[in-house]
Amino acid sequence: MRIAEYDQILADLVAIPSVNDHEAAVADYLEKLLAKHHITAQRVPYAPGRDNLVAEIGNGQGPVLGFDGHADTVALGDRAKWQTDPLVGTIKAGKMYGRGVTDMKAGLAAGMIAMIQLQDAGVLLNGTIRLLATVGEEIGELGAHQLAEQGYVDDMAGIVIGEPSGVVKDFVTQPAAQSIFPLSPEERDALVAANQNTEQHFVVAAHKGTLAFRVDSVGQAAHSSMPELGYNAITPLLTFYNRVQQYFEDQAGLKDPILGPATPVVTLLNAGEQINTVPASASMSINVRTIPEKTNDAMLADIQALADEVNQAEQAHLTIRVISKLSPMSTDPNARLVQLTKRIGEKHLKQQLPVIGVSGGTDASPIVDRNPNIEAVVFGPGNFSAHQVNEYVDMGIYHQYINLYIDLFKHYLAGM
Ligand SMILES: [Zn+2]
Repeated sequence: MRIAEYDQILADLVAIPSVNDHEAAVADYLEKLLAKHHITAQRVPYAPGRDNLVAEIGNGQGPVLGFDGHADTVALGDRAKWQTDPLVGTIKAGKMYGRGVTDMKAGLAAGMIAMIQLQDAGVLLNGTIRLLATVGEEIGELGAHQLAEQGYVDDMAGIVIGEPSGVVKDFVTQPAAQSIFPLSPEERDALVAANQNTEQHFVVAAHKGTLAFRVDSVGQAAHSSMPELGYNAITPLLTFYNRVQQYFEDQAGLKDPILGPATPVVTLLNAGEQINTVPASASMSINVRTIPEKTNDAMLADIQALADEVNQAEQAHLTIRVISKLSPMSTDPNARLVQLTKRIGEKHLKQQLPVIGVSGGTDASPIVDRNPNIEAVVFGPGNFSAHQVNEYVDMGIYHQYINLYIDLFKHYLAGM
């Protein structure tokens, strides 16, 4: 396969609209291309028009390394602000523009092409490379949840999530980067000085999880002139709020070495019906970005206990409903996959690659939930133009990732 074909595959993928649906059309395309190179794929339907795809190469004897790429994209956004048609992969000055090109059709294409190149070259792989092309990542890792539940990650020793892991090089020294990357000013300068490429990339070994829940308080309505006939639903909710604040203050010392502390945000508050009525209902939603040092279930148990205490003390009716629960990912920076990715990535991308943690979640959450021993890294072509208009990928970086994935897959299975 030649470089022109790499570019055509990416443009073809961008031309398939897959805004959180129609991933079956992406699966069709991948399946046909893989079949041309004698790689059989298996479709795992999620819903009509929405198929995950799983494909493997290797001899099936040694370790299993996964490669995950989601096939869905976010919405096109304001079309008037796009300088090119978001559904046509358009190359200008070494960059391809289009919706989903950075997040993450370039990553998906690069991982798949690397498998095809290894297969075509007849490279003997002692083990298995397993591609997972998933649906619905952008709205809650739907496909990754399904594949994990069905056992597709149980035998994996490691997995590469091919999500975008880079930024334009100059961004590294800008003030906005300081809250995102935990690096000193000296480290930033050193990175940029050593970088012989257009973008600075990172090996992401950890990201936070999510625990989002809603607390409902049920009271008894009454006219505000006779409050003793009612029960104000707001009152115990405020008590609960104060206890929860105290709880998170007490937890602030509990930090992940890469991710820092868990961070709670009260995101929604609703209460009352009208100004002269004792409120019969009140609710509050809290979104916590969680860390491995306190599992979502353990935190939830603590929060339930706080609600129980308030219910006891104030004869209240507080109930907790979980809205979403996604595990953090945290791979030891010294794990073999992390170190191998760093070493091989540095060679191909001509730069130093810091190992870092980030806040946002990926398909890794349901995967590490199912297989806690897996070594997971997020590492792929693409940049901060994800989810924005004029999303693009640097074509040089895209080509380099194809070669580095080939190298990484080969070395991981060779035990080197
Ligand atoms: Zn993504």
